[in-house]
Amino acid sequence: MEYPKVKRNVLLNPGPATTTDTVKYAQVVPDICPREKEFQMIMKEMGEDLVKIVHGDLKKYTAVLFCGSGTVNIDACVNSLLPEGKKMLVLNNGAYSERGAEVCEYYHMDHINLKLPITEPVDVAEVEKALKADQDIAVVYACHHETGTGVLNPIREIGAVAHKYGAAFVVDTTSTYAMMPIDMDKDNLDFVMASAQKGLMSMTGLSYVIGNTEIIEASKKYPTRSYYTNLYMQYSFIKEKGEMHFTPPVQTIYATRQAIKEYWAEGETEKWARHQRIWEAIYRGLDRLGFETIIPRENQSKLVVSVKYPDDPNWDFTKIHDYCYERGFTIYPGKVSKLPTFRLCALGAIDGPDVDDFFVVMEEALKVYDIKLK
Ligand SMILES: *Cc1c(COP(=O)(O)O)cnc(C)c1O
Repeated sequence: MEYPKVKRNVLLNPGPATTTDTVKYAQVVPDICPREKEFQMIMKEMGEDLVKIVHGDLKKYTAVLFCGSGTVNIDACVNSLLPEGKKMLVLNNGAYSERGAEVCEYYHMDHINLKLPITEPVDVAEVEKALKADQDIAVVYACHHETGTGVLNPIREIGAVAHKYGAAFVVDTTSTYAMMPIDMDKDNLDFVMASAQKGLMSMTGLSYVIGNTEIIEASKKYPTRSYYTNLYMQYSFIKEKGEMHFTPPVQTIYATRQAIKEYWAEGETEKWARHQRIWEAIYRGLDRLGFETIIPRENQSKLVVSVKYPDDPNWDFTKIHDYCYERGFTIYPGKVSKLPTFRLCALGAIDGPDVDDFFVVMEEALKVYDIKLK
């Protein structure tokens, strides 16, 4: 069926991302009860695809799906994977890894909140020092790409150290999954997580953990700290009944099925090349207009750029945001602790020329509000 084109907005915020119309319209399906066989087949295939995207062997890894935003994964992994009497080591170099520590606090779990500089990647030597100093650490938790700053962490090296000390490695890959190539075995990962509205460029409401099945099975005996977000409970339900325990986000799952089709069609390498092209276009525009950025380029994921507010009293983020928003471009406030910044992100179904178009609008906005850059 032919549907009318939907107004296209270019989202430069860190997700939800710009989607294709085919993904939007994939939600328009005849009403269906998600307990039907037909729907279970979709879920099964989707779970396998989600594992394959991170090159996971289906004999070793499984996907556990949740209804919720990306944080539901952080909640589930943190509360479900810590054995009795053990500790979690949280590598905290930004707002998203900090969230792992916050979940530990909310569940009163024994943990080490290892605070590290937020403008640099995690120092693997610091991780090893912490692991050496405490034999009780059973889980190392990190964020792959700190979406707040754009800093990329060396997960492969951290994972190797975690495994050397017998700890499981849990990584928040919400802002890299299906954008940057990830390989469960090569990158020394036991658990990764993501959300449909980010790298996969689908709708909000579906999140998933890809994890080591053996560890999930073992976690059956771990202390339970949550009901709705217990990883083992959800896993065993999916395994036995082929369904999520509670109502799934039906329409988002249809959209995500289409998004996965489009992911395979574009290809891992091609997609990552496109995201990097967007990032380069962002820098081209920033350099041309004279904006300054915060994080050294070599520390970046190439998916998020933190931009310093210009040193001009006329600068007002809200006014600039509104000017761009009215013209179809969304920019986003920063998260580099208290530094006044805003963010431009390279997610979604966009490409370099969309970013060039954005900078034309940004340049106009600067003129309209009489903002001068160096
Ligand atoms: C987006 C994101 C999340 C999830 O945030 P929600 O608002 O719950 O969707 C988690 N971690 C990272 C790194 C993210 O970028």
